Amino acid sequence: MQDQLLQNLWRAAQGTWESGVIPSAENLSRARSSLLSLPDTGSSLESVQRHLLEDIVPAFNGGSISPNYYGFITGGVTPAALFADNIVSAYDQNVQVHLTNHSIVTDVEYHALGLLADLFNLPRAQWHNGTFTTGATASNILGLACGREFVLQKAAERKGNQLSSVGEHGLFEVLHALNLSGVQVLSTLPHSSLVKAAGVLGIGRSNVRNICCADDPLRFDMAQLEKELARTDKVSIVAISCGEVNTGRFATSGMEQLGQLRQLCDKYGAWMHADGAFGIFARVLGDSEEFATIKKGCDGIELVDSIAGDGHKLLNVPYDCGFFFSRHPELAAQVFQNANAAYLSAGAADGPAIPSPLNIGLENSRRFRALPVYASLLSYGREGYREMLGRQIHLARAIYEWIFDHPAYTPLPEAHSKAELVDQAFIGVLFCAKDDALNQQLTAKINKTSRMYVSGSSWQGRTATRIAISNWRVDVKRDVALVTDVLTQVAQ
Ligand SMILES: *Cc1c(COP(=O)(O)O)cnc(C)c1O
Repeated sequence: MQDQLLQNLWRAAQGTWESGVIPSAENLSRARSSLLSLPDTGSSLESVQRHLLEDIVPAFNGGSISPNYYGFITGGVTPAALFADNIVSAYDQNVQVHLTNHSIVTDVEYHALGLLADLFNLPRAQWHNGTFTTGATASNILGLACGREFVLQKAAERKGNQLSSVGEHGLFEVLHALNLSGVQVLSTLPHSSLVKAAGVLGIGRSNVRNICCADDPLRFDMAQLEKELARTDKVSIVAISCGEVNTGRFATSGMEQLGQLRQLCDKYGAWMHADGAFGIFARVLGDSEEFATIKKGCDGIELVDSIAGDGHKLLNVPYDCGFFFSRHPELAAQVFQNANAAYLSAGAADGPAIPSPLNIGLENSRRFRALPVYASLLSYGREGYREMLGRQIHLARAIYEWIFDHPAYTPLPEAHSKAELVDQAFIGVLFCAKDDALNQQLTAKINKTSRMYVSGSSWQGRTATRIAISNWRVDVKRDVALVTDVLTQVAQ
């Protein structure tokens, strides 16, 4: 019995996902009513295993296992990452303090960060640093926290003031000493998590502002941006949507524009943060003409001050995993330093100078997230990830082309031509139904088929549906057939 259960578990983990992409109502209610109370005496391991596999697991969704789960941007788990993640649980290393004579784990983490920098063609001299996080939300918090520290230090320099560190003195005292009313984040269509980060950091959600062109909500209005940067009552962080979550499109389009943004930020002492949760992966693409527009969306990102990225999306490692890079690694220690904790300090270092992760990020005790990243990068290599992303983009483009031609659907953002739509398509397909009644029901109707799963969204006030493609198992031919079949059926 137990062997059978474990075999099923392994098969599921290998991607044999035969049930629908969302669990049946019966499985869900059975799982809910199966939840047990705290026993006085524990149960046998076998009965616990049986409970998990027979009652709980059938009420999971196919989020990462099914290639046709297009809700959110869940990614999947590559076989190498799955193997490594099991090692992580079994050995349960705490990647917290860099102790050269005690464990290799901090070295592996630092090394894996270097490989990621290589994957994204970020020059190591400036970018081999940073840390692994729980996801892009945490990475955005790190980016805005370092930015907040930096812009207030710059303001203090300008004003010849000593009090400048938020980490040391607190936001209120520093703003007061500098006669400033606050910090603002200037962006275009930022991800909700960036706004959340501003809330957490005392910047305030309402101080994240869209500074976009009237005819394009994703493009910076440069004149307006300079006006905001020049304000004397506030200091500013510029946050670049390097991959917008609804459309998959990019806020910038090349080195020239990044250079202009850099110049403005330098002139006014602002920090530039790029939220590249999934978009940074466009830097993996080769020189093929078909991806030229997408690649431009990431061109020049090496000019920013900090980059947030996700591992559990396009890298296809398990939850939870994100990463954070910064061109000013010394700032992270000023923000995240553990004070007065001699027992946490590193021993004498005879290896590379690796900072202790607990002093440059949010958590002290940390999971060994780097190992699945390391394993998956070795398993696929630059070419493997390039090929995987290529397949994902080809699927998105094929679906967009089909939708463009279909009488019942409208692709979003609305495009003048199919060529323009395809050229800009990355890993997301945003669309709506032309018929309003159908459109209100569209997401629910698609998900009810349980053959694929999509997210409800909205675009410029209109209810929309989003197909987010991020799984390593994408098979363009098979998946185009399935998606168009479902959409045909739903439109009837
Ligand atoms: C998913 C996403 C985030 C948040 O990432 P989590 O991994 O959920 O913390 C932030 N920014 C963008 C652009 C995203 O797509």
